This record gives sequence, structure tokens and C-alpha cells, in this order.
Amino acid sequence: MRRLTPAQLLAELDRRQPFAPEVREAAGAIVDDVRRRGDEALLEYTRRWDAPSLAREELLLPPEAPARALAGLPGALRAALEQAAARIAAYHRRFVPESVAWTDEAGNRLGRVVRPLDRVGLYVPGGRAAYPSTVLMAALPARLAGVREILLATPPRPDGTVPPVVLAAAALAGVDRVIRAGGAQAVAALAYGTETVPAVDKIAGPGNAYVTAAKAAVAHRVGIDSLAGPSEIVVVAGDGADPAWVAADLLAQAEHDPLAVVGCLSPDGALLEAVAAELDRQLAGTPRAAIAAAALERGFLVQTASLAQAVELAGRLAPEHLSLQVRDPERWLGQVRAAGAVFLGPYAPVAAGDYAAGTNHILPTGGAARFQAALGPEAFVRTIPFFAGSREGVRAWAPAARTLAEAEGLPAHAASVALREEPAGGGEPGP
Ligand code: NAD
Repeated sequence: MRRLTPAQLLAELDRRQPFAPEVREAAGAIVDDVRRRGDEALLEYTRRWDAPSLAREELLLPPEAPARALAGLPGALRAALEQAAARIAAYHRRFVPESVAWTDEAGNRLGRVVRPLDRVGLYVPGGRAAYPSTVLMAALPARLAGVREILLATPPRPDGTVPPVVLAAAALAGVDRVIRAGGAQAVAALAYGTETVPAVDKIAGPGNAYVTAAKAAVAHRVGIDSLAGPSEIVVVAGDGADPAWVAADLLAQAEHDPLAVVGCLSPDGALLEAVAAELDRQLAGTPRAAIAAAALERGFLVQTASLAQAVELAGRLAPEHLSLQVRDPERWLGQVRAAGAVFLGPYAPVAAGDYAAGTNHILPTGGAARFQAALGPEAFVRTIPFFAGSREGVRAWAPAARTLAEAEGLPAHAASVALREEPAGGGEPGP
């Protein structure tokens, strides 16, 4: 871990990028190819990167496969998935947007109606690892929002199969169809549609740099969620924080990716050194030591002037995960300017949120938490404002509208307003 000053840490902020220019170029070329050649290109790239002998008719998994995988899942794993799903659903149910309508004091009706997206495509990373938790985190909010059709794309393993645990999670979360394809080619297929993959309204879910670059490339065509980069954790450690627990949480993010961003901020220099010593000790015993060591080498320990400065600095970093291991953490939550998600106190490891606390683990990274939110049901709806004026209500808005239209040099606008102020001949207005 590097020892940085607050100023040095802030200087690094501008260098964060979700993907390199050469990845953008490679992903862009794949997207163009799939847009032009459809299934043929989708299959070629899937064979090149994932499953060498996949057949075209195998791109879409049979509709009954997820339910069958769920039925065959070992009991303990099924129970864990069900428990996690129940907590995630209970959390997100509270945030399903609802239509709102009211009458103003002049008698006009106003409001906003909520409509679920018709069809969404969820990306679940695959290849070397299986992420059933990501299936739940992406699909349950979409289901709760009322999305009519949920497609899930995930790269198949070399033998063409999708891990049963991923399919089981898809069944539990109400996914409608599973597409055996990943990378930029899957994103392109979902955005533009191919012979077998129908085009969607929005693509959500994390992936590697190619997936992320492809999402950016299709953002003019479909909705996308945040552009996910490597995992991040910042721990603010205060009085009473246990260095072993802090180190364990840092290590849990470090084992994700050599490029993971891990750091600890504290006004207590001795505590920071104790965390460093604990990291060395715990790293030796972890099976993913090589990955974690690479991330920790780039990680940072920053001594701040005060706890308040540590929290302020963390908010400016806007990390994907912010852990406040301080006394009275909920009081400090009020001082956090931005973060993907915040974990309060010693009994809230980030891994709780990764799996079963209930909060979402698909979070903005790279500072995007300044302007983007964790995935939730809000991401899967469109909201449509409406205004229903009444004859009596005209006086509440018309003079202002007419005056502003005239000031903007738009006389036809002003005239259309004036008609409502004085209906022709003083008679009844039209339909
Ligand atoms: P992935 O599914 O994101 O990517 C696999 C695909 O990458 C392949 O199908 C292939 O098409 C493409 N690809 C690989 N090399 C390529 C190349 N040279 N050129 C073009 N395309 C190429 O799986 P992954 O690579 O294992 O990455 C998963 C990522 O998702 C990891 O960074 C992991 O940490 C992250 N993740 C994040 C979350 C979260 O919620 N934030 C959850 C799970 C996983």
C-alpha cells in the first residue's frame, strides 16, 4: 500500500478511465460488425472468445433450462440464493416508482405516470467465473419495476454451457430468456437486435472493459446503466476500528481484480500502519494472493488531519463502496457527498452488500457516483409527465406563459395561449 497525502490522492482523481482507447476501438469494431451482420457475427465472436463449437440455434438457451437448473441445484446453495433474493426484493420493493397526480389550487391536474420498460437486456459476466448474485441484483429490480420481458446475456463456458447456478438465479429472479453470448458482441446484439436476439430498450449490468466500452458505443440507441470499471473500496477508519476487520474488507475488494482500487483514510497514523501489517498477514493466507497483491500495491493509506477531513475526502473520491468504520457512523453518513453505496459500522462488510444485505451491488465506479446511482427499479421505468388544464385554471399559468413566449419571439406560442385566456366569442371552448 502506498502512503499518500490527501493532496496526492486528489491528484489521482482525474486519471480514472473505465476503458483504454484501444479497447474502445476494438469494442466499437465488434459492435459495428454485429449491427451489420447480425447472428453470423454474434456467433463468430462467441466462438472466438468463449465457446468454439457453439451452433447458431444454441445462442438462445431453451426456455425451460433455468427452471430445470433451479430444480437440480444443491439444497444449501438454493436456500442461499432464495434468502439473498428475498432480501434484495424486500429492499428494492420500497423504491418502485409510482405514478403521481394532483390538482393545483386553480383546478389544473398535473402529474407523472410511470411505465415499465418493455424489454431489457441484462449483462452478467461469465467466462472464468459465475456470478449468480449479479443475476439477482440486475433482474429483481427489473422484475419489480414491471418490465415485460427480461433477457439475460452471459458468455458461455468453452463447452457451450452456462453455469447451472447462474441459470438457477435467472429462474428465481424471473428472467424470460437467456442468451449464450458475452462481450461487446452481446451488447451489440441487445442494442440492435439480430435474427435471434430481439432489440431491447435498455442494457444494464457489469462486465469487463470490452463490455463497458460497447455499452458506451450503443448509448445513443438504448438506455444503459453506469459504465462499470474495476471494483473500488475506501474505508474511513476512526477510533475503535479493528485493523484486522478493515484489512479483511480491503482484501475482499482487492481479490476481485489487479486493477481494483483499495484505500483507507484515517486521522490515526498508528491505525493505518496496523491495517498495513494486517494486510500483509492476511494476504499470505488468501488463495487469490497474486491478484490481491497487485491491487494492494497500487492501493493507498492516507492520514488525514481529522475524521471530518477523511469523510470529506472520501465523498470527493465518490468510490463505488465507502465503508465508515467509525463511532456513530450514521451521524457521519450525513457528511458523505457521494458514494456508490455506504456501509456503516463494523458489522457491515461490503461483502454483505455484494450478496445478501439487500442493497444492490451494481454500483457506479470511477467517480461516476457523483452523478449516477446504484441500480434499482427506477432504472427500469420511463416517467411521463402530464398536464390537464381546466378552464378556470388557465389564469394560473397563461399570463406567465404568454409573456415569456412573447419575450422569446415566438408569437404563435403566445397566440395559442391567448386563445385559452379568451375563448372565441366568449363561448364554450372546443374539445
Ligand atoms: P465478461 O463477461 O465481462 O467478459 C468476457 C468477454 O470479454 C468475452 O465473452 C469476450 O467477448 C470479451 N473479450 C475478452 N477479451 C477480449 C479481447 N481481447 N477483445 C475483445 N473481446 C474480448 O467477463 P470477465 O472478463 O471475467 O470480466 C468480468 C468483470 O466484471 C470483472 O472485472 C469483474 O470484477 C466484474 N464484475 C463486476 C460486478 C459488479 O457488480 N460490479 C459483478 C461481477 C463481476
